[in-house]
Amino acid sequence: MATSIPIIDCHVHGSSLSGIPSLNGICECVGIERMNIVCTTGGQRVNANPAALVTKAEFPERFYVFAGLDHSAHFSKGKLSPPSLPEQIDRLMALGADGIKMIEAKPTSRKSLPIPLDGPYFEEYFTHAEETGVPLLWHVADPEEFWDPDKTPSWAKQRGWGYNESFVPKEQLYTEVENVLRRHPKLTVVFAHFFFLSADLPRAAALFDRYEGTHFDLAPGIELLYNLSRDVPATRRFFESYADRILFGTDISGGQPPEEARLRAGIVTRWLETDEEYRVPEGADFLLGPPEDGIVRGISLSDDALAKIYHGNFERLAGARPKALNRELAAQECERIAAEVAVMAGTPVGDTEAAQSAVRLRRSGPPA
Ligand SMILES: [Zn+2]
Repeated sequence: MATSIPIIDCHVHGSSLSGIPSLNGICECVGIERMNIVCTTGGQRVNANPAALVTKAEFPERFYVFAGLDHSAHFSKGKLSPPSLPEQIDRLMALGADGIKMIEAKPTSRKSLPIPLDGPYFEEYFTHAEETGVPLLWHVADPEEFWDPDKTPSWAKQRGWGYNESFVPKEQLYTEVENVLRRHPKLTVVFAHFFFLSADLPRAAALFDRYEGTHFDLAPGIELLYNLSRDVPATRRFFESYADRILFGTDISGGQPPEEARLRAGIVTRWLETDEEYRVPEGADFLLGPPEDGIVRGISLSDDALAKIYHGNFERLAGARPKALNRELAAQECERIAAEVAVMAGTPVGDTEAAQSAVRLRRSGPPA
């Protein structure tokens, strides 16, 4: 990194228990001071919380965790009855999670959990999130190209991110979210990947002006850098005037080699800090697409804006340091998830990563 401003990456993924040393190594190699692990949810794994909680327990000064929800009542077709969504907020906050991650409005997740975000299933959850002020990091929609087979990039197609009529349209997802925000205007939300509005800054500005608790992260979605490189003066003006609402993120995964992670983060920091023109470097990861896809033009932000985007905003929303984990409550939560995974996957409880996480949380030391 060119600047000496400390950096918090608000959007990384831990993959597994075995990936913990690698994610911590990435932090050191990339020069990121702290990271927020955002946990996906869905399917037989219930959510990715267990390994993330162990990561936080073992590196308490470094890792924040935005935990995923538990929708196993839906995924088990009613066999399981986890706590209600508002109760889940309380449990996760009590055990020391720093916020909640929602992947539920990504088209693929919305298809597997086909429940409207603005319907009764989520209503009390959003009411409670607004009341408690818990920060959400929420993935809504995807790049518009993914709904157009002629424009969907091959790397996205290979992940099953090309959307036909069997997926909810992008504008419907925005409508549902807007309905939630209208009912809960004080929600604290970081929309992942610039809310996929990088091609429409006036619309992004209108959202920020209407809802004071809304923010965007900068995790690629490489298209956001390409879109925002088309008119550098306009982008720079937007970033300087809404510097309080934008957070640095990378979508680095603990499973990737440190050099790839370094390149991924460098694409974003170079764009924010310099006025250079460049392409995605050779050796960057598959999800960034090939160098020929586009040109990034740096927006050379002021140090004041950089300080907010790099760490100030995240610290305001989630705390100046990661919350202390209550190891005993975290272990109990992992055991609860382990029991659910065992039912859904038909595996012995002890074989689940959630159960192994609980063991490791208890072994790590006395409850905090
Ligand atoms: Zn992500």
